Amino acid sequence: MKYRSILLFGAPGAGKGTQGKVLGVIPNFFHCACGDVFRNLRADSPLGKTFIEYSSRGQLVPDETTIKLWRQFIEDSTQIGRFHPQHDTLVLDGIPRNVQQAKMLRDTLEVVAVFLLKSVDEDQLIQRIQRRAIKENRLDDANLKIIRERLHVYEQETKPVLKFYGRNLVHRINADQTPAKVLADILRFAAKK
Ligand code: ADP
Repeated sequence: MKYRSILLFGAPGAGKGTQGKVLGVIPNFFHCACGDVFRNLRADSPLGKTFIEYSSRGQLVPDETTIKLWRQFIEDSTQIGRFHPQHDTLVLDGIPRNVQQAKMLRDTLEVVAVFLLKSVDEDQLIQRIQRRAIKENRLDDANLKIIRERLHVYEQETKPVLKFYGRNLVHRINADQTPAKVLADILRFAAKK
């Protein structure tokens, strides 16, 4: 059985996490932010160390490690009854993050929509990321050089995922609007799915 899924897509700081959290409280949606799964690891565990090694440079954690951890998280969430694969739609945020991950998940996900949160204003993205750095104490948000590297990784590695799923599934959303308006735009499509 494949997991019915919608993907939140967009550059770091575009607001995927904000939207995902809200969507995740609606019955029959289950939000999974891959970055949060990593951040919940103990920093002194082998996986936690790998995460810090890559994320502190603004780079992606290797695919095998990422997919394995993600599968474990989904299985655990199912076992404890937080995620009900038969009834729930997965709201994925931060995964798949490159074409290889999309291929690895091809037999696992039934992607019904991709929401591309698009910000035209890169300075706004950077400002949001820097504000979050203080609020959430995130190493990878702390300095401009790392933020620029993450934006670069998004352009080079993550954006090609859109092509993998194809135009028909992709809905472009203006991410420079207020969070409530972004949510309204997402729900206009997601509620029908
Ligand atoms: P943002 O939403 O700002 O892009 P995330 O919280 O999603 O940030 O991710 C933070 C970091 O966690 C990434 O820069 C990367 O190092 C790691 N990470 C998260 N998801 C993945 C993934 N699917 N594959 C590889 N690395 C990931």
